[in-house]
Amino acid sequence: MDRPRIIIFDTSLRDGEQSPGCSMNVEEKLRLAQQLDRLGVDVIEAGFPIASDGDFEAVRAISASVRRPIIAALARAVPGDIDRAWQAIQGAARPRIHVVLATSDIHLKYKLRITREECLEKARESVRRAKALCADVEFSPEDATRSDQDFLCQVVEAVVAAGATTVNIPDTVGYSTPEDYGRLLRILRERVAGIEKVTISTHCHNDLGLAVANSMAGVQAGARQVECTINGIGERAGNASLEEIVMAMRVRPDRYPYETGIVGEQIYASSQMLAEITRVPVQPNKAITGRNAFAHEAGIHQDGMLKNPLTYEIMTPQSVGVPDSRLVLGKHSGRHALALRCEQLGHQFDRRELDEVYRRFVVLADRIKKVQDSHLLELIQEVCAQGKRIPPASAAMPYAKAASAAVASSNEVQLPFPGTAPANGSTSSITVAFADYHGEQEDYLWGV
Ligand SMILES: [Zn+2]
Repeated sequence: MDRPRIIIFDTSLRDGEQSPGCSMNVEEKLRLAQQLDRLGVDVIEAGFPIASDGDFEAVRAISASVRRPIIAALARAVPGDIDRAWQAIQGAARPRIHVVLATSDIHLKYKLRITREECLEKARESVRRAKALCADVEFSPEDATRSDQDFLCQVVEAVVAAGATTVNIPDTVGYSTPEDYGRLLRILRERVAGIEKVTISTHCHNDLGLAVANSMAGVQAGARQVECTINGIGERAGNASLEEIVMAMRVRPDRYPYETGIVGEQIYASSQMLAEITRVPVQPNKAITGRNAFAHEAGIHQDGMLKNPLTYEIMTPQSVGVPDSRLVLGKHSGRHALALRCEQLGHQFDRRELDEVYRRFVVLADRIKKVQDSHLLELIQEVCAQGKRIPPASAAMPYAKAASAAVASSNEVQLPFPGTAPANGSTSSITVAFADYHGEQEDYLWGV
């Protein structure tokens, strides 16, 4: 099967670095660039050399030491920027100059204070200048999605004729929808002479949470490069998330039959390194790289996961480099998950001992929400030390009732037991339904 190859253009070091609190020094940028190389990105946008000496040095250092991917440097459509960008990347094995110039009327009028005609001329001249220095030239009409479409087509045609090899279509303000964005790319492909000679690229911002969806719509409309960042960092609400785009293609090749060169197993490490360097933590529920992305707390989910991960997992944590699917132990956890974690900590219990561990565990979990291994070890030690005091559990009684009775008779329990609500209609109906195919796990009474 011959699937189109999508070029992954990572801009964590440029667009990403522009996000609040995400600035990095030269060493940090170099370290991240080396990780992006291991991750297998095709293009690293290393920075904006005219912006500062630090940025210039970082781009130069990355160009000198990261040799496999293309190294791109950003430049506004002015000679000084283009020349400075070239100075920074000329030592790269595969340099690219990325020229940006806004094309929307609102940017032309208020930011650049130039006419459309002047814009067209600047675009053409800057690409010519960049092309004279570097064979690989990308052009971005900033705010493309809010530009007049006829004018946008004119500008793109001019830069293609001037030698641009990639044309990137930024949704700079994150205003587009997937339908709009796909349609815009199709219009460009239909109307612009020579467009078939260049690579069309997406660059979508996440102000409406649509960056990834818009990028995917762009790919479906013929884009063959996607600009994105690790953890979706970037200006304001961020950029399209690299890991989400890549995994959407891997998990749903039926909808997105495209290939990338990304080494999935390096995704998590890249995300962790970026979070560590910028000290901007990943939101816990972030798709793919958040700490809860592969965590399962609810008892029925945990039990299903232990029997067959496919019950609740559409991709394995290992496929994106997460070391283990972490079952979070909380008050909704079942006995099966608790027993497994105890085993992983080196403790095996018989049924009665487990009753006691579980009883104490639920009381603790109600108090502290998330039971860490250290808490569990403490609790296990208590139970082991007081081994003789373990109340006998009747073999005839379901776990929950037995443990419930044990709680009721214990003097040590300070807090009301959270799971004493089996009378609750919804709780019992879930338990009954579940018991149909899983008779041994009565302890769902405790959690759901
Ligand atoms: Zn951007």
